[in-house]
Amino acid sequence: MEQEIHITLRFNLATGKVGLNEIVYKLKELQNPLMLKILEIILTGYDDLISERLSRTDIYPSKDRKGLGRHLRRGDSQERFCRGRKIRKRGYRKDNRRFSTVFGKLDLRLRMAKCCNCDAYYSPLLSALKVGRYARREKNFEHEVIESVIDTNYRRLIDGRSIDISLGGIHNIVVGSDIDENFQEPICPKELSAIVADGTGVKQQKGRKGELRTVIGITKAGRVEPLGSFSNTPWSEIEHTIKKRIKEAEPLNIPFIYDSEPGLDDFLADVAESQRCTWHGSRGLYHSLWQDGLKKKDSQPETDKIKQLIGIELPEGDFELLREEDKQQVKTKYESSKTEIRELIKTFREKGYNRGASYLENLSDRLFTNIELWLKTGVIAPKTTSLLERLFREIGRRLKKIAWGWSDKAVTNISKMIMIRQYSRDKWEKYWKEKLGIKGYFDIEIGAVKLSPCEDF
Ligand SMILES: [Zn+2]
Repeated sequence: MEQEIHITLRFNLATGKVGLNEIVYKLKELQNPLMLKILEIILTGYDDLISERLSRTDIYPSKDRKGLGRHLRRGDSQERFCRGRKIRKRGYRKDNRRFSTVFGKLDLRLRMAKCCNCDAYYSPLLSALKVGRYARREKNFEHEVIESVIDTNYRRLIDGRSIDISLGGIHNIVVGSDIDENFQEPICPKELSAIVADGTGVKQQKGRKGELRTVIGITKAGRVEPLGSFSNTPWSEIEHTIKKRIKEAEPLNIPFIYDSEPGLDDFLADVAESQRCTWHGSRGLYHSLWQDGLKKKDSQPETDKIKQLIGIELPEGDFELLREEDKQQVKTKYESSKTEIRELIKTFREKGYNRGASYLENLSDRLFTNIELWLKTGVIAPKTTSLLERLFREIGRRLKKIAWGWSDKAVTNISKMIMIRQYSRDKWEKYWKEKLGIKGYFDIEIGAVKLSPCEDF
């Protein structure tokens, strides 16, 4: 059905005085109100058209009523739909229906209809627009709100667009999101070069301190693959959830990288091989030696040594194209480092640094997982959890600015959104397009824009 909208804009121009900036400034102010007007006129016209088709069954054949007039049968305790598609117009609803849209608030006058079959009163436009009985906002609005939370420019959203939403309202949008049910497709562990997990503290409701835990995969192409975000959830439960998403459970030698988080020593042990974050490794040694009574100046040479032993640089470039002697060099360094660590443990024991010795012992199996993997397969896995720490900083900033005092569900959802939008931009966009239901059922273009003298003149 093709129709036209004719818009009349009246403007006054101070000849010889006005500049480009002022013209653009004023046009910008017009944007949202103009869009709201256009939206209103399209919806009102649509409402009239629907009512016409449903009431004039003498003119319109039943195929013209397809998709229109769906309503619940009056007095039906099981809330079944009525088959009746003929209505009598019953004027307008007493109160306008208010919608929050990206352009601002729209107060819409709605037609009421009475079904000739079951006598139910309803608004045919609402059912045609696929707007629920209680829905007060459209999905573009939700999209805009969530994007601005992620960009941390909530203020700009409120001030710039006259969108009226409270922090509580944003919280509810985030909690109500179905992000949890999406992005659950199985992960193929063969595509991963590492799995990284870490946790961070967040301030939540009533100043309670919560813990946000996140697990990501690093693909062989170096991309981040979000695996899961959890608030105040034990690692064992997180492991269970992640495992369900991993397709094969055979041991695959994917290095699993984590820092000093307790409870992670056997995390995903069936599919990954643990590796301590190298940076935290030397820091942990400093701490153990301190417990053994060593002052910083005495433990420094030892921690420096560990740093140097585990910090084996892998040659860049294609593994297959590397010269054998380059690989051999890494292998030699790896073997001598291992031996030196064993000797260091022995020395620690002799000196009575028992904490330091057991710390290194526990660590030694896991320190070189990335080197062993590289020697075996040529895959370079990241050595540190710094990737996640950066992500946590980003999440933390938003939580501080917008989401202080949020519930577990909201914190989990927003951190998932940040991760997915940041690292899987294409999936994020697809998700929204599907949510908005863009299917090509509405098209609009600018027909003509002409200048004509004002009729009053
Ligand atoms: Zn009916």
